Amino acid sequence: MKERKTGTKLRVPPVQVPLFVFRRLGPRLYPHRWALTGATVFLLLSGAIGLAFPAVVRYLMDAAFVEMDRALLNRIALLLLGLFTVQAVFSFSQVYLLGATGERVIAGIRKDLFSHLLTLSPDFFTERTTGELTSRLTSDVVRLQGVLSYQISELLRQLLYLAGSLTLLTLMHRQLTVTTLAVAPAVVFFAMLFGRRLRRASTEVQDKIAEANTVAEESIVQIRTVQSFVREVWEAGRYRQGIDSALRAALRRALTRGVFFGAITLVTFGGIVAVLWQGGRMVLSGDITGGQLVSFLLYAVMVAAAITSLASLWSGYQEAQGAAERVFELLDQKPTVADPSQPARLEPGRGWALRFQDVWFRYEDSLPWALREVDLEIPPGEVVALVGPSGAGKSTLAGLVSRFWDPTLGAIGLDGIDLRQLKLADLRSAVGIVPQEPMLFGTTIEENIAYGRDGATRAEIETVARAAHAAEFIEKLPQGYESLVGERGVKLSVGQRQRISIARALLKDPEILILDEATSSLDTESERLVEEAFEQLMEGRTTLIIAHRLSTVQRADRVLVLEGGRIVESGTHAELLAADGLYARLYQRQFRDEDIVRVI
Ligand code: ADP
Repeated sequence: MKERKTGTKLRVPPVQVPLFVFRRLGPRLYPHRWALTGATVFLLLSGAIGLAFPAVVRYLMDAAFVEMDRALLNRIALLLLGLFTVQAVFSFSQVYLLGATGERVIAGIRKDLFSHLLTLSPDFFTERTTGELTSRLTSDVVRLQGVLSYQISELLRQLLYLAGSLTLLTLMHRQLTVTTLAVAPAVVFFAMLFGRRLRRASTEVQDKIAEANTVAEESIVQIRTVQSFVREVWEAGRYRQGIDSALRAALRRALTRGVFFGAITLVTFGGIVAVLWQGGRMVLSGDITGGQLVSFLLYAVMVAAAITSLASLWSGYQEAQGAAERVFELLDQKPTVADPSQPARLEPGRGWALRFQDVWFRYEDSLPWALREVDLEIPPGEVVALVGPSGAGKSTLAGLVSRFWDPTLGAIGLDGIDLRQLKLADLRSAVGIVPQEPMLFGTTIEENIAYGRDGATRAEIETVARAAHAAEFIEKLPQGYESLVGERGVKLSVGQRQRISIARALLKDPEILILDEATSSLDTESERLVEEAFEQLMEGRTTLIIAHRLSTVQRADRVLVLEGGRIVESGTHAELLAADGLYARLYQRQFRDEDIVRVI
């Protein structure tokens, strides 16, 4: 982001008309073409009246001061009043039509942006922070809104005034027109000089604010960590630093803007003074009437105002362009994991074998392999426990089944079909996940369970809640299934959240299950209930468990031991103990003498 230093200060950047905003907005404006056409017509009409004003004033002035005709003066004044009333109606119609269209288009962009974000793959979200993304959704979109609801109409209006006034000026007096226009090159020079700087400064401000938002967001989400480490002052300092640097960038922008507009104002009003001086001399020598000079001046002011507005629109446009680039960059982002063009279909019915064929996986080319040479066949209905030290690749292996990522090498097949050939929605409907520490949405318990399947009835919800041993505690809550969860409602323990999450998975009724046991120890009662709920859920389903408990591994049909991304051992609990390898060592270190202990 560093600017080139010495010698570039006065260099005028090459003219590049950034049509990006319009090119990208074009297709979104098309459906509103009639409203836009209407707005343009009203704009032309109201502009025409604005342009007629100085001509009428000329007659008004000359009637009053040259012809001394009171009746004519009254008539002309009334005519003007009538004209402006009509113009007010035209202006209203134009502003409303354009404003409403702008709002609709922006609302559309917001909705599309959010829907699109939801389809992006996890790697996208690991690279971006939430604060940055919400910034794009809010402040950048607001900037675009400015373009649509105000800038476009202003651009048209000012262009109309500029062209109209200039034509009329030339018809009235060519010599004075030349004086009026003498300022134009200076304005263009300043606009080009400052336009780019403004855009750069604006992008910087937006980026800095996004960074500060990230800090705020992180601290709020992790408020307990912040408070328990007494880091409030430190976090506030971090945020302050972010805001201060955004402020510095914003001040630089304000300074650039100020200098820009100061210069433009000086140049344009200088031009007006020159016209006034020259025109005054012409009135004195009897070449033109006072009324002519007044109307000429009004046109000259219109030209000056139009040029100033166009310059300001130019700078606003430069700023909006940065925002548009960021918004459309997000909209253009393609999910790394996408639907195939010709998806294969899974044959309905239970029991699809899951097969890993020599799968290698790394999160990025620069990172070490997270999985190596994983070759694995899980027949329908088998319960497989994954154990191994932390970072061995258990979650990665489980994540590949839902196709959050694709294998770097090798393939994963479900019922003999490569996952990449399935529609993502079909695949993900077939896979149920119960995470280690399930996060619930801040709505009712009922809705949280119903998340498992759209349109589930209350009876179905209660059935799965009972099967997941969640009904007991839910029914004891004052509002039962209608209790709100989270910040504004009941706080649930990990075990309770897991049972809700199991109920949700039961409702979804997937063919393949991925269970991540909670690492934090639950109390014995909660433990038993969660285990029983798991049993219910696993019944007849192909299951992968990231296992942390002895009871789980003992019950699994097969235990896979991972280390450094590789499956190093495979067998039943008893077989692995007898083999006296890594599993036996892990077992001796962690399980001995205890039933409920963590492996990892
Ligand atoms: P486990 O579940 O066995 O603890 P993981 O599957 O989470 O292990 O991690 C396996 C390896 O992949 C680790 O080295 C971890 O640092 C790395 N890893 C996990 N998630 C990501 C990610 N999103 N981006 C980059 N590396 C990751």
